[in-house]
Amino acid sequence: MQRDQQIFDIIRQELERQRHGIELIASENFTSLQVMQAMGTVMTNKYAEGYPGRRYYGGCEIVDQSEQLAIDRAKQIFGAAYANVQPHSGAQANAAVMLAILQPGDKILGLDLSMGGHLTHGASVNYSGKLYQPLFYGVNRESGLVEYDKMEEIAVKEKPKLIVCGASAYSRDWDYKRIRAIADQIGAFVMADIAHPAGMIAKGLLNSPFEHCHFVTTTTHKTLRGPRGGMILMGKDFENPFGLKTPKGEIRMMSSLIDTAVFPGIQGGPLEHVIAAKAISFFEILTDEYTAYARQMQQNAQAMAKAFTDKGYQIVSGGTDNHLMLIDLRNKNISGKKAEQTFVKADITINKNMVPFDDKSAFVTSGIRVGVPAITTRGLTETHMPQIVEWIDQLIMDADNESLITSVRGEVNSFMQQFPLYPEL
Ligand SMILES: *Cc1c(COP(=O)(O)O)cnc(C)c1O
Repeated sequence: MQRDQQIFDIIRQELERQRHGIELIASENFTSLQVMQAMGTVMTNKYAEGYPGRRYYGGCEIVDQSEQLAIDRAKQIFGAAYANVQPHSGAQANAAVMLAILQPGDKILGLDLSMGGHLTHGASVNYSGKLYQPLFYGVNRESGLVEYDKMEEIAVKEKPKLIVCGASAYSRDWDYKRIRAIADQIGAFVMADIAHPAGMIAKGLLNSPFEHCHFVTTTTHKTLRGPRGGMILMGKDFENPFGLKTPKGEIRMMSSLIDTAVFPGIQGGPLEHVIAAKAISFFEILTDEYTAYARQMQQNAQAMAKAFTDKGYQIVSGGTDNHLMLIDLRNKNISGKKAEQTFVKADITINKNMVPFDDKSAFVTSGIRVGVPAITTRGLTETHMPQIVEWIDQLIMDADNESLITSVRGEVNSFMQQFPLYPEL
């Protein structure tokens, strides 16, 4: 077969882009070389509908071994009793949990998208807001913290069947115990979507949801630093069937309901090459090196938040417990959109983000979301954070100054040369 030089040239350009820039998108990271290598293997050729030991295709004995390793390691990382590593993405993981326990039209209660929640937590443009009846809690206007009292008020009044906690743009830890107590008053399920902070939860740097939440979903490519994908986990609760009945009236185990919801409920064949890569990333997470990485992420985020605050920036909730922060730019007279566009010209990547009670649209926004998982993987530490904030501040203060942008880009590019990315490639 003739080589597709066109696409390999594009891939090479993307590698160079990743090497030269400062990556501050909170949901991005750089996987290890072995994680990427596994994704480019013969495992992609295998159909394996079903689960290890019970597949619908022959010849699955070998992929069974890597999927089982992925499951076992995922359980070990979080001290979980159940793991399903097949969801193709975080969105799929959430869809499967909802399919397993809800009927169309059932009420779900999640964090409002404009306050840091995720599309799959009931947004009107998403299946979760179309198939189910969404209700939302938010954060407090002054403190920027989740309003658990409001969550309780809505839950007691509306009796949702599922309460979703977790967020895409919330820098504080969650009170899972409180949420479970609210859910228990009305017999609701709790799903913690830890797509963002999973890596820090894995290392005990943030509260663990496993003791209190019936379901835990996550992506594998954000702080967990694995291949792009999702996963569903359960703690002890999975042994309890919660009285969920099949049409024939049998009570089903929760683990079997979730397995069935993933396949054949929302997916066909699992991506065994990605599952092998997930297993490798889980192996890496179990090392001391990753523990040090998770701690460094938290230290970097705190150092960065301090550097921003020292320069008069307003961080929603006043700081961060995890790996990200949301910066309200309204006192700096620039929109999130303009900031994003300016930074990208200087090879600094962030994303514009609505802030709570934003008066601008999702396309413009008053804020930016900044995260440290990727730069921490590159090897940056607390000492480097003030320099990054200095560049960002210069760009914000003089966003139309093209010669400034060019000079910052030069400084950024030479700075990042100290932190080689994929030197083997
Ligand atoms: C990123 C994210 C997801 C979705 O992950 P995808 O893999 O992009 O589908 C789900 N929930 C939360 C809270 C997220 O931040």
